[in-house]
Amino acid sequence: MRQDQEDPDQRRSAPVYAGAGRAGSGPVEGTRPVLYDAVLLDRDGTLIEDVPYNGDPEKVRPVPGARAALDRLRAAGLRLAVVTNQSGLARGYFSEEQMRAVHARIEELLGRFDAWLVCPHDDADGCDCRKPAPGLVHAAARELDTSASRCVLVGDIGRDVAAAMAAGAAGVLVPTPVTRPEEIAAAGWLANDLPAAVDEILRRQQAVHAVSVPAGERVGTTLVVRSDSAGDVLVTGPAIRAVAAGAQRVVLLCGPRGRAAADLLPGVDEIIEHPLPWIDPAPAPVDPDAMRTLTARLAAVGADEAVVFTSFHQSALPLALLLRMAGIRRIAAISDDYPGALLDVRHRVPVGVPEPERALSLAAAAGHRLPVNDEPVLRLRQDALPSRPADLGDPGYVVLHPGSDASSRACPPELAARIAGSLTAAGHRVLITGGPDERDVTARVAAAGGTDLGGRTDLPGLAAIVADAGAVVVGNTGPAHLAAAAGVPVVSLFAPTVPFGQWGPYRVPTVRLGDAGAPCRDTRAASCPVPGHPCLSGIDPAEVVEAVRVLAGGGGGGR
Ligand SMILES: [Zn+2]
Repeated sequence: MRQDQEDPDQRRSAPVYAGAGRAGSGPVEGTRPVLYDAVLLDRDGTLIEDVPYNGDPEKVRPVPGARAALDRLRAAGLRLAVVTNQSGLARGYFSEEQMRAVHARIEELLGRFDAWLVCPHDDADGCDCRKPAPGLVHAAARELDTSASRCVLVGDIGRDVAAAMAAGAAGVLVPTPVTRPEEIAAAGWLANDLPAAVDEILRRQQAVHAVSVPAGERVGTTLVVRSDSAGDVLVTGPAIRAVAAGAQRVVLLCGPRGRAAADLLPGVDEIIEHPLPWIDPAPAPVDPDAMRTLTARLAAVGADEAVVFTSFHQSALPLALLLRMAGIRRIAAISDDYPGALLDVRHRVPVGVPEPERALSLAAAAGHRLPVNDEPVLRLRQDALPSRPADLGDPGYVVLHPGSDASSRACPPELAARIAGSLTAAGHRVLITGGPDERDVTARVAAAGGTDLGGRTDLPGLAAIVADAGAVVVGNTGPAHLAAAAGVPVVSLFAPTVPFGQWGPYRVPTVRLGDAGAPCRDTRAASCPVPGHPCLSGIDPAEVVEAVRVLAGGGGGGR
């Protein structure tokens, strides 16, 4: 049966997350913010000036603008927690009583916090709460009656951001003179100071909060568009679910490279597949007959509106012209370029916003918002996934996916082989995955340890295997987003050719590895422009083994 002949209700059959219990002080149902419930704040260097091992309340000095910034968060209904490493307790530099006096002084100056989470240990204790371990973030989320993915943490060093990411929370780095350059390079979200971090948190929260559309203006059919590859389609999923929540019928126009991912998206009723020569990386010449055929197919949809999703380097305008010619009355898209009469909703987004939020903000600008019982996470239609092959054994294995459509973002095969060997030696069952054209690489990697699944899976089959993994080790490529959509933690071997903050695995526990400051940074290169692929080739397989350990113990994954 073709997709466009299926019963629409079947294509909407993905299970919906029931949401955490919201008893007590949480926002009332219907007004729950889309992105975040809580802001977690590092203490020393973030809220107050860093006085090493301070046990003296008299030495507490808030950073400039802290009180007003925190009050803006409180006024927006966000709860606040402090998450702080205080190894001075373990080392006996101050007593617990002195620390309580310091915290009382902080509340006197900065107002009340809803929770205080303190790690009293030293690095040598090997606890699971000292940042960069994710334990404090999980504990804060529990205490605030939410989940880590609904928290954003603000801190001044790499340990803070790493703890947030390992828990699946967002992390904002506010550098100080002690912040190391490589920590700044690796951060996906940077702010100049605490007030600026707070302003951006509130701006992002507001940007996905839809303008309300009167009941009489609700649309029947919305045409959504996301061309490009599987990963691009997957990260647009939350925005498409937002559209589906307000439309009776959702028709998705995608390209051939994104079709398999489009088939996995909840909320899509019908799919039209057609290449767009202004989007494809290796486009065929524009064929006027093909454009006329596409325009006729779009007209036949009878859509009341269209929402055209793009990456920041793509233009929505050529398609908007075809949509106008197809008679679609209301068209929304992100466009920095002047759209003339092509767009009714011309939306603009600052750089650095995660792709799923960028798309959600466009859906919001067009009047669509995720329902309160949904979460802005990536998702897959469970009924679209095949059963996992029985010969792979129990869930909990590690998937290592060395390849990528763009070789600049692939893990060097020699490194992938060493990673496979190290993971196997550490006791993990390792599955090596790759497409039919990556069999040489997967065989070579599997020879060092693990089971070679190269060429054995299509995208739904790979999704089914990924969904039962304990962790996925992968570059910045489609399977990273599959893992995020399955709620499976990701060890991200991230080549910095595009910004991590926009393209990193979204709202899933993640450890980022690789040199974020390598010369390929922000080049968008498809093949590595630097001899030796240094952004990834310097990764130590022991870092991958440690990352898998941290993610496995973090209480994340599985939704
Ligand atoms: Zn601890």
